[in-house]
Amino acid sequence: MRSRYAGDPFTTSTPEIATALEDVSIPTLLLALVHITGDPRFIRDYKQMGIFLNEVQGFMSEEDKARARAEALSVIADYRDRGCPEPEPLSPELIREMMDWAACEHVGDDYLALVSEELDLDGVDPRRPAPLPAERTGELPVVVIGCGESGILAGVRLQQANVPFTIVEKNAGPGGTWWENSYPGARVDVANHFYCYSFEPNNDWTHFFAEQYELRDYFTKVIDKHDLGERVRWNTEVLAAEWNDDDGSWSVSVRGADGSAETLRARAIITAVGQLNRPNIPAIDGADRFAGPSFHSAAWDHSVDVTGKRVALIGAGASGFQIAPAIAADVEHLTVFQRTAQWMFPNPMYHDEVGDGVRWAMRHLPFYGRWYRFLVLWPGSDKGLDAAEGDPNYTGDDAVSDINAAAAMMFSQWITGQVGDDQELLAKVLPDYPACGKRTLQDNGSWLQTLQRDNVELVRTPIREITANGVVTDDGASHDVDIIVYATGFRHTDVLWPLKVTGRNGVDLHEMWGTRPYAYLGITVPEFPNFFIVYGPGTHLAHGGSLIFQSELQMRYVDQCLQRLAESDVHSMEPKPDAATDWHRRTQVQIKKMVWSHPAVKHSYFKNADGEIHTVSPWRLNEYWAAVREPDWSQFIVREGK
Ligand code: NAP
Repeated sequence: MRSRYAGDPFTTSTPEIATALEDVSIPTLLLALVHITGDPRFIRDYKQMGIFLNEVQGFMSEEDKARARAEALSVIADYRDRGCPEPEPLSPELIREMMDWAACEHVGDDYLALVSEELDLDGVDPRRPAPLPAERTGELPVVVIGCGESGILAGVRLQQANVPFTIVEKNAGPGGTWWENSYPGARVDVANHFYCYSFEPNNDWTHFFAEQYELRDYFTKVIDKHDLGERVRWNTEVLAAEWNDDDGSWSVSVRGADGSAETLRARAIITAVGQLNRPNIPAIDGADRFAGPSFHSAAWDHSVDVTGKRVALIGAGASGFQIAPAIAADVEHLTVFQRTAQWMFPNPMYHDEVGDGVRWAMRHLPFYGRWYRFLVLWPGSDKGLDAAEGDPNYTGDDAVSDINAAAAMMFSQWITGQVGDDQELLAKVLPDYPACGKRTLQDNGSWLQTLQRDNVELVRTPIREITANGVVTDDGASHDVDIIVYATGFRHTDVLWPLKVTGRNGVDLHEMWGTRPYAYLGITVPEFPNFFIVYGPGTHLAHGGSLIFQSELQMRYVDQCLQRLAESDVHSMEPKPDAATDWHRRTQVQIKKMVWSHPAVKHSYFKNADGEIHTVSPWRLNEYWAAVREPDWSQFIVREGK
């Protein structure tokens, strides 16, 4: 059977192909030509000048791009005329050379296995679990909590493993974040051709950074394709879970949409509730006295029309950053209350549509989509960690390393270049902490353009109170508005809140964690047998990469744990306490080296009340990949004797 990534055969006319080639990423095109012809000269004859985040043309000269298009046209037309035969597999040496060429640097041995797996040129979906024999699955019901990206992934993998499962979802539909966050302007800030399951690429993204509805629809399609809908209990919330040591099972208390209570029994639980899910609404004096509508960005009230209204936007992180440009032209006046200025990364493609030519290439050119994924993955992942990691020999206090200082300079130039002579605005929008100290936002200029509109005001004075008429700041100024939008983020540090989880001997998970949540490899917790967290503490990505990638690695690990659990005499498994505390300690050592821990970063959703960070991963993707590749059973307590 034809490899699933070899492209669909086509009969597209030569002029239409030529038009498509005007649109495509030339480095990716050249890599596809190597597959079609088996001839490495298509990379050896062309030089990419570099690779950078969101730059998919490799900084090639215009002459080289034109030459590549001309060569490609005849190769592709010939391929079409030959009936689009499936390309012969390339040697591992040549694939390695292609990786290095695409990355514009040597892809080290430590990344090779990860990248090869993610590329999956063989189309075998290497993270897919082996199916359990039917006689071993019956006693293994699993409850998955949440049907966002990681819960859907869990469903796909459990189905493939023959494990019986139920997904419990509090919303009426799938997608989690991408179901709930329907605010104007909501879109992903990780390049979409990477921010999707490795085994379910989407050739049809209409934007490089898709809007919310398209992501929601993508997740719905995955559910439908894998026939998961029947396995989901919609509009049902998990309130609590309690471990029963006698029979090695969990009692999972759920509440249906009609308020009815029910208890589900599970041998294992997978929590897939995300870390950016429960809205954070700050306790501002007088908030309940406001006379008009007010709502959180993640619970946008679409019955309220903002057109012609005076709107207060409290909070200007990733969500506020998207909301303001989306509504500014419609409202009478927009007042943005920003406590801390944000660093932003220049990304001219941020709102761009994916052209028809790119979509044609994704669909038809062998392995074009796989290499494009690599082209956005490579600079968009651990390169960010280089700018975030502190250099102990760096002496300045405005940055943490030379690379970090260079990032600050680039970002500052991007900001100052847009603000011009407006010193008052510049003072408000230039951050006063090192670059990358918080999650850097993607920006195509729309934020600062919005702030320079006549009907928009950026307020940096702290909020004192809210009255019936609007927001009063510490300087006594009253900002009268009709609507208040809280874009104030999520209770990120309260991992798994408000779920009540009771483990062995009545241990309460949140009491045990206090303000310092931890889990062995971010997945399992001592005293909580058969309990698996996808996107757990210490796994949030602050430097780059894609959470879907993280979830896929974690789910492969969980699949292997479930395989073991399905063995006839295994009662339960949990990590040894030392394994978990040692992983936590090592993670903390790394986190303290990172710019996120810098004292000048006074407010950040990563930091707990003590200024510590326990939710974010400081690890390179390859390090985490290797750590969770397969369980090290010496780090577990596996109890036998069901
Ligand atoms: P956020 O980044 O945490 O931003 C919250 C905003 O509210 C910040 O401006 C924060 O100020 C402010 N705030 C919070 N508490 C406050 C208080 N007590 N008083 C005054 N201001 C307060 O939240 P978010 O914008 O919802 O984004 C959260 C994360 O979700 C993002 O980092 C990202 O990972 C994800 N996200 C992604 C996308 C996307 O993919 N495009 C979109 C939205 C969200 P400080 O900065 O001073 O704390």
